[in-house]
Amino acid sequence: MRDIILLKQGEIVLKGLNKRYFEQKLLQSVKRRLAPLGAFRVDCLQSTIYIEPEEDGIDLDEAVSAMTKVFGAASVVRAAACGKTPGEMAQKAIDYMREAMLSAKSFKVETKRADKSFPMTSIQVSQYVGGELAEAYPDTRVDVHDPELTVHVEVRETHAYIHGSPLPGAGGLPTGTGGTAVTLLSGGIDSPVSTWMIARRGVHMIPVHFFSFPYTSELAKQKVLDLTKVLTGYCGRMTVEIVPFTRIQTEIRDKCPEEYFTLIMRRFMMRIAQGVADRNGAKALVTGENLGQVASQTMEALGCTEAVTRLPVLRPLIGFDKEEIVRLARKIGTFELSTLPYEDCCTVFTPRHPRTKPRVEAVEEAESVLNIEELVREALDGIERVRIEPGEDV
Ligand code: ATP
Ligand code: MG
Repeated sequence: MRDIILLKQGEIVLKGLNKRYFEQKLLQSVKRRLAPLGAFRVDCLQSTIYIEPEEDGIDLDEAVSAMTKVFGAASVVRAAACGKTPGEMAQKAIDYMREAMLSAKSFKVETKRADKSFPMTSIQVSQYVGGELAEAYPDTRVDVHDPELTVHVEVRETHAYIHGSPLPGAGGLPTGTGGTAVTLLSGGIDSPVSTWMIARRGVHMIPVHFFSFPYTSELAKQKVLDLTKVLTGYCGRMTVEIVPFTRIQTEIRDKCPEEYFTLIMRRFMMRIAQGVADRNGAKALVTGENLGQVASQTMEALGCTEAVTRLPVLRPLIGFDKEEIVRLARKIGTFELSTLPYEDCCTVFTPRHPRTKPRVEAVEEAESVLNIEELVREALDGIERVRIEPGEDV
């Protein structure tokens, strides 16, 4: 008798006619993420996904932790298996819920019956198991209206299962239901978070990184690959596109007015990212930009930056405070990597007095000395692709 994992669907339950499609995508993500951990039987019933190990020696806690990162799930919980007699169910509840029962002031039992031929009703099971629990833990009182702890009993075909409060799932929508976007991924704190936020809406992400060797080191590139690996825990496999950016930066430095360095550079990033998007059928660009954070993130500067692309530029962090971004970065597990002190290409040629309220015409004029088309083509042709699988060392 093996413990199982129950995963409750999130926003999918609100979907109408195409609910099946979202469910199938969620099942796909779940199966893909479980594959390296062992053999499981996975099935879906009434907005719950049941995950049952089919072999011994599987680390179920690791599987639970992997499942809390699957987009589309509202909650995840490990449940203990037992025989389907009232005595076995009560005994399992007494043993398995011991810690939670000892620390809660009040509790109730809730029962779900998938096996409709089971001789007791859900209410009868709850009353019986609840009575036995109350006797075993006399200091925890029964409260059916507002209990601190809910003990769940699920009666399925072959076994019954007992579980307590679930862990929060990653939320959002299943990967692959929202199309594809190109995300501009630096080694900073912000862009891994913006990538995660749009990925959570079901979007398959293609990370693009602008790499200025030797001004930025191999370590800076490795950092971006490591960050991507953390993100694959949520999004599944991704292929990072590494764009050679040195020539563009030195051309800008040598030929353009210093006050426009950053803006011109950012416009090149957008053009190249759009090129990558077009090659891959992606329909939007994603950045970690945040209003007012730096000179290149004023409304005027953002306007100049996005003027070179016809694709929507998604900036999920636009209205966040830095503190909120840091909190999210910690939660998803990218913060520590992001704060490793390697140079980013943006910091290499930072102007001393950047324009904070640039006009598009002035930036166009400033960059007109460059052969933009050729520089973009050369960068696109020089792209290096690195495929990253979840859980694999890079
Ligand atoms: P981050 O913490 O994500 O680096 P930031 O606050 O440092 O963001 P900028 O350096 O101005 O802001 O960059 C703004 C956005 O441009 C980043 O969030 C990222 O999406 C993109 N970007 C910046 N540098 C790079 C790079 N080297 N490669 C890919 N994208 C980049
Ligand atoms: Mg940065």
